[in-house]
Amino acid sequence: MDLASVVPPEALVEPQGRYLADLMGRGVQGSADAVVLPSSVDEVAAVMRWCYENDVPLTARGGGTGLAGGAIPVEGGVVIGFERLNRIRQFDPLLWRMHVEAGVTTADVQRLARESGLRFPPDPGAAEISQIGGNIACNAGGPHAFKYGVTGHWVTGLEAVVPPGEVVHVGGPIRKDVAGYDVRSLLVGSEGTLGLVTAAWLRLVPAPELELPVVGLYRDAEAGIGAIERVLGSGVVPATIEYLDAVTLSFSGEAYPFGLPDGASFMVMTEADGAAAEARRVAGELRDALEEDAVAVHAPEDPADVADLWRWRGGAAFAILAQRGGAFSEDIAVPLDRLREVARETLAIGERHDIPALSFGHAGDGNIHSTFLFSPDDPDEERRADAACHDLFELAIRLGGTVTGEHGIGWLKRGQLPRQLGDAGYDLHLRIKNAFDPKGLLNPGKKR
Ligand SMILES: Cc1cc2nc3c(=O)[nH]c(=O)nc-3n(C[C@H](O)[C@H](O)[C@H](O)COP(=O)(O)OP(=O)(O)OC[C@H]3O[C@@H](n4cnc5c(N)ncnc54)[C@H](O)[C@@H]3O)c2cc1C
Repeated sequence: MDLASVVPPEALVEPQGRYLADLMGRGVQGSADAVVLPSSVDEVAAVMRWCYENDVPLTARGGGTGLAGGAIPVEGGVVIGFERLNRIRQFDPLLWRMHVEAGVTTADVQRLARESGLRFPPDPGAAEISQIGGNIACNAGGPHAFKYGVTGHWVTGLEAVVPPGEVVHVGGPIRKDVAGYDVRSLLVGSEGTLGLVTAAWLRLVPAPELELPVVGLYRDAEAGIGAIERVLGSGVVPATIEYLDAVTLSFSGEAYPFGLPDGASFMVMTEADGAAAEARRVAGELRDALEEDAVAVHAPEDPADVADLWRWRGGAAFAILAQRGGAFSEDIAVPLDRLREVARETLAIGERHDIPALSFGHAGDGNIHSTFLFSPDDPDEERRADAACHDLFELAIRLGGTVTGEHGIGWLKRGQLPRQLGDAGYDLHLRIKNAFDPKGLLNPGKKR
């Protein structure tokens, strides 16, 4: 029996192009014998049953915006894409919840929520393309994860297909559930290696009435990180705490909407949100905490200025990429008291490998995008940038952190998990994988 007999003809597309790569940027191209785009959970289950019966690898693909090679079919077989499984099954604005299929884009969920005065807080940077299924599979974060948490925090229920092709439901439109083991949390962040997410119940919150960014600019990282510590110690809860280092500012500062003052070499971006009076109170306290040692503090209030600021922040990654045409931007996370070392060591690693280096990211979560630049025309420079990433992963583990705070292990960080988890921890990890996927056919070669 071939695959064409278990799914309708329109669900099968040519196994080529974008279905074989993601945005990891290492030029890695997978191969596939078939690409299936199912439009129902029953079709997803039929595909998995067929793969399990025929010992064929099965790799899930969402929007393909992953930065760790997670969706690349490195061992061939079948790629299963979720773009046609994209219905909103239910939306109950008065109960702050939404039931969506895996292929709905992150931005569509955010928009729909916003139209009813609600908010789906996870805000990973490629929201127009990434899908809810991919966000769940990576447990994606973003700038506002500091106050609101990562994607898993907003998932109350999952429908998933697990080997050898069974549909399971864990959780649901319920806000609490301690029955059974926490399989929902196991599936969240499992990068398509334990099961295929087909739909999710999402929790929403009322949208804040006001969002007031407060930006501090400093002469160096030492002063900037001191400001972050004062913000944390002040007892107020900002929605976000981001930083951009001197090299990042040198590439993106020209477009900064409020003009970078002389001597500004490190930026701390915070935001107060909530009901108007509360947001104003928190913004005032953030200003107090950021002001000491600052070259300048900018606190835009006009919604158009606020939107400009976030647009500029969203564009920073592209300004960086434009410098040399290539950039490996990783996502380590460390305990908050080790932020200084990350900022400093990132530059030292770049120097050691003789390539430009910089760091920016979600400082409040200790989740920093240390980045190494290279020219794609210079294979040796690219190799050195890759070696720098490996030094960075070592640094993360040495500082008591993790090699990935949000992008996932995928293919890129293969081999890092045993080092981070230790023998017993890694053995448990493999036993969980084996319990879900005894034939090892789901996204082989990943999260290892
Ligand atoms: C410019 C830019 C900015 C970014 N900013 C952020 C950020 O701020 N925070 C952040 O966390 N990430 C960020 N990312 C990374 C990426 O967007 C996220 O990891 C996102 O969650 C990936 O979703 P996707 O649908 O594109 O998944 P894909 O890339 O298609 O897949 C990612 C992984 O999920 C698996 N998968 C996909 N769909 C399913 C499913 N339905 N069931 C089971 N497994 C599945 C795949 O097998 C793969 O392992 C950024 C990426 C870019 C390009």
